[in-house]
Amino acid sequence: GRHKDQQRRTGFQYQGLTFDQHSLHVFAGLCAVDTPKHVEEMMRALKDQGLECTRMGAYKPRTNPYAFQGHGADCLPWVFELAGKYGIKVIAMEVTREAHVEEIDNALEKAGRPCGVILQIGTRNTQNFELLKAIGRQQTYPALLKRGFGITLNESLNAAEYLASEGNENVIFCLRGMKSDFGAPHRNLVDFAQVPTVRRLTRMPVCIDPSHSVGSRERAPDGVLELVHATAQGVASGANMILVDFHPNPKTALVDGPQAMLMSELEPFLKDVEIARDAY
Ligand code: PEP
Repeated sequence: GRHKDQQRRTGFQYQGLTFDQHSLHVFAGLCAVDTPKHVEEMMRALKDQGLECTRMGAYKPRTNPYAFQGHGADCLPWVFELAGKYGIKVIAMEVTREAHVEEIDNALEKAGRPCGVILQIGTRNTQNFELLKAIGRQQTYPALLKRGFGITLNESLNAAEYLASEGNENVIFCLRGMKSDFGAPHRNLVDFAQVPTVRRLTRMPVCIDPSHSVGSRERAPDGVLELVHATAQGVASGANMILVDFHPNPKTALVDGPQAMLMSELEPFLKDVEIARDAY
């Protein structure tokens, strides 16, 4: 639109898609893979909306050791097969250790590479330097780096530099809110005012994660979900990617059910994203 930086060279291509500071991709999906039925329902809904990307958590770093830890490598074969079935080209999937990259690579190879994967580094691992170096060393998969929830923005940007300095420059930077009681009742203090800041300071595409920032399905007095308002703020200020949780039945979700949007909310959500994008 009205912005003058359209000529700046940024970002990268992956799976035939462009990820740069001018593109916008919605990665709606399950916070955590649970059942084949739910994954299939999610992917079918994405296809119906013409979406080619999703988020699917297989390895879940949980605060509580007794909480569901994710299906891990066991679910990869059927998740990738379903992605192929519904034309999903890219899955954002968190990895918490180097071995997970190999598990993903092996499963994709066995499945005949029906889709690609962007390796997500979670906020709890933003300064896991050995993990960063390992994901930086490989260049098969791009990386989605979450900002650390308790460190400065510059410290998180340095973490991105670890990936690049090891050779992987295909990095997307994700704002996901900061730990702070001052932001309550939101789960985290929403930090989407820094979308333009990260775009100014770096050449990385910038992702926002309204689900993990706001952390609930509360509605504003206008009837709109607060996490949709937060999304609009991020998109209207230039976000290039949206990582967002949906679930066919949030009550039964094994992880973060309270922040997952309903399938019926996908289409209106995409419309709101379009309106916010037009405002940019
Ligand atoms: C996630 O996106 O599934 C996640 C755990 O996010 P974060 O690392 O930002 O908490």
